[in-house]
Amino acid sequence: MPQDYAALIAHGLADSGGMAVLDPATGERIANVRTYSSAEIDAIIRAAETARKDWVGETAKFRANRLRAWFDLIVAHREQLAEICTRECGKPLAEARAEVDYAASFVEWFSEEARRAYGEVVPSFAAGKAIIVTKEPVGTCAAITPWNFPLAMITRKSAPALAAGCAMVIKPSEATPLSALALEALAVKAGIPAAILRIVPSADPAEVGKLFCTHPVIRKISFTGSTAVGKLLLSQAGSTVKKACMELGGNAPFIVFEDADIDAAVDGAMIAKYRNAGQACIGANRLLVQQSVHDRFVERLAERVGALKVGNGMEADSQIGPLINDKALQKVEMLTDAALSGGAARVCGGGRHNAGAQFYTPTILTGVRQDMAIAQQEIFGPVASIIPFADEADAIRIANDTRSGLASYCYTRDLGRAWRVMSALEYGMVSINEGLLGTEVAPFGGVKESGLGREGSRHGMDEYLELKYALMGGLSG
Ligand code: NAD
Repeated sequence: MPQDYAALIAHGLADSGGMAVLDPATGERIANVRTYSSAEIDAIIRAAETARKDWVGETAKFRANRLRAWFDLIVAHREQLAEICTRECGKPLAEARAEVDYAASFVEWFSEEARRAYGEVVPSFAAGKAIIVTKEPVGTCAAITPWNFPLAMITRKSAPALAAGCAMVIKPSEATPLSALALEALAVKAGIPAAILRIVPSADPAEVGKLFCTHPVIRKISFTGSTAVGKLLLSQAGSTVKKACMELGGNAPFIVFEDADIDAAVDGAMIAKYRNAGQACIGANRLLVQQSVHDRFVERLAERVGALKVGNGMEADSQIGPLINDKALQKVEMLTDAALSGGAARVCGGGRHNAGAQFYTPTILTGVRQDMAIAQQEIFGPVASIIPFADEADAIRIANDTRSGLASYCYTRDLGRAWRVMSALEYGMVSINEGLLGTEVAPFGGVKESGLGREGSRHGMDEYLELKYALMGGLSG
């Protein structure tokens, strides 16, 4: 293990046994992490609840300063964190560096928001009475995070929680516990009490999920991952009426109208589709292209996709890394093969890549239909599915024909059309003429089966605050 980052994860390594963390590019075991039993996690939750009482008793400025110190340390350890991220989740180092910046941005943002949890004084309904509304931290929270953004999903949840005065216990994905452990080490170094932010790797996610959702101390569960697991957690959390924030799967349409700047649309598609080898919840799952510009768009996209460098993310020029595991590879293969046998055509790619056991060649399929599995499910791989459409109404109908509603994209130079389409899309996020929409300053989240609640922005802080209404009577002299 490289010395420059070994210290960041040392506290989470197992003396013996433990859970193996594999490099998806090589299959090599990088580390064995310590896992936690339900009894240990129960004790950690109770210790968090005790520590939270001191944490919330500190001033907002105190919490803001500790978060700011954490941000500074994340920035100072950018290279080490990026390397850990690439080693365990496979994304190219350049993308891992961008993820460190993205992860850090939430800590910086919420270090600032910590001091802005203002309440209200409401004009009263009667003489001699006053109404005051304060914002109180929700309490001790739990989170479960995915492997595809192993750094940013930790900070996007924990930074607003800590800023609000909550404590948080997080179970990271089995595939990527090291990024989470490294962030935890930096938080402790920044002076955040160890019990306030705890990372608890486990090889039994179902058991930990149930414990979090039914635990009497936990007041909120925040989850990012698949829709199926999100539904299960929601049903479990109902037993104790916990608040829930669910960032679930997507099926993003990427609509290209005939009046679009086609080169800009191709640039956007390269990011929205091929970033992280297509393993993003906001990844363009369906490229809807107007018939009149279809061939021009496909030709230009194919030139760019054919030039992508597939390889181990640790190699400087690599642009497409491996898929996270063999199951993910098999799913991409199955969806692609089914589309081809159902009548889609292969423009490029369409099979495994010889860079290693878990690499898939960047692919473009045309003639995809909305009723195919590849258009209904998340591909989560470097395969662009192109669906032609006739006109605006047709594009909107196809785009909304899904149970998901996370991100959507639209390329047009017609201002009226941009507005109409934005209004008609049943999605939590709409990106017009841009392929990358994640930012700490805007509310991230979905509608329909893509989730509940928002992360980032000032709304992200409200997710960890409860309103308390106080009526004060007897004020007349
Ligand atoms: P996943 O649902 O399999 O796993 C996510 C997390 O849930 C992991 O930590 C896993 O250990 C845990 N988990 C698995 N089974 C569980 C159970 N029965 N009970 C409790 N926890 C359980 O998803 P994944 O494969 O890690 O991530 C990919 C999915 O995440 C995709 O669907 C993607 O769209 C989604 N995602 C959504 C967002 C968003 O913000 N909306 C962001 C990133 C990823």
